[in-house]
Amino acid sequence: MKLLEDRYGRVATDLRVSLTDRCNLRCSYCMPAEGLEWLLGDEVLSDDEVVRLVRVGVEQLGIREVRFTGGEPLVRRGLVEIVRRTKALDPTLELSLTTNALGLARTAGALAAAGLDRVNVSLDTTDAETFHQITRRDRLHDVVAGLEAAQAAGLGPVKVNAVLLRGVNDHQAVELLSWCIERGYELRFIEQMPLDAQHGWSREGMITADEIFARLEPEFVLVPAAEPRGSAPAELFLVNGGPATVGVIASVTRPFCGDCDRVRLTADGQIRNCLFAREESDLRAALRSGASDEDLAERWLIAMRGKRAGHGIDDPSFLQPDRPMSAIGG
Ligand code: SF4
Repeated sequence: MKLLEDRYGRVATDLRVSLTDRCNLRCSYCMPAEGLEWLLGDEVLSDDEVVRLVRVGVEQLGIREVRFTGGEPLVRRGLVEIVRRTKALDPTLELSLTTNALGLARTAGALAAAGLDRVNVSLDTTDAETFHQITRRDRLHDVVAGLEAAQAAGLGPVKVNAVLLRGVNDHQAVELLSWCIERGYELRFIEQMPLDAQHGWSREGMITADEIFARLEPEFVLVPAAEPRGSAPAELFLVNGGPATVGVIASVTRPFCGDCDRVRLTADGQIRNCLFAREESDLRAALRSGASDEDLAERWLIAMRGKRAGHGIDDPSFLQPDRPMSAIGG
């Protein structure tokens, strides 16, 4: 077993696999209303190719967690089978899914039976009008039904990821947290990152961690949770003495790159050693030209060695990656 170690001594054990760049929502902070030019046909890894690369990561490179993402992974037809085949590689692997939950009410049971352990659901508001304003769709009820189904299927702890947008839903932070606590969902507020397809992100427009606390603290007493954070992106806080918690993922103002254990595989077979990587390593071409598992593993190791210390958003030389978040995955 060789470890995916970078030149700063960080070891990646958490693989994020984007199964598609397509999505059935049009969140304003992610992509334009008309959508994007999607990957076509065999540009996208087949189910067999996905499972093979995950297997190489697990068997040869020390991957211990696999999270399936997108775009929206629930639009990928073979998702349940990919989950089942991944779990069969090693039943102790932790499998999770980042999703907008559209359709989860139908598939939660099958995903749990296939070996999925838990879900992170993206939900920025519980107000139907605001939901439409952000996502350009009237599907809040489907997300709520998906969350309930995930909980009923035992895909927990069910986590909710929320982005606050200035003048849109940032006044609803207290409401969203109360709603999640009442239902036993673990809410994480995420600082908006410069990864949108439109390249419209601005630091001034972003709601910072400090602003998130300022919106919550009039209503909730927040105390840092005792459990060590480790490589987890979220800073956790006990709400009103607990046991409920709330998390803040402050990638921009409180970066956590020093303990990063993540690596990403895109739907078109590229390794990204960081969410903000500007270079990618093409495993798809190697795989399709007959590379052995050992050769694929070696290419992956080389890709990791080039990982930068951090995202560099604060560097004057910072350049937003060409690939948008919708084609990288959370
Ligand atoms: S920005 Fe890159 S290095 Fe930093 S935590 Fe995210 S993936 Fe890791």
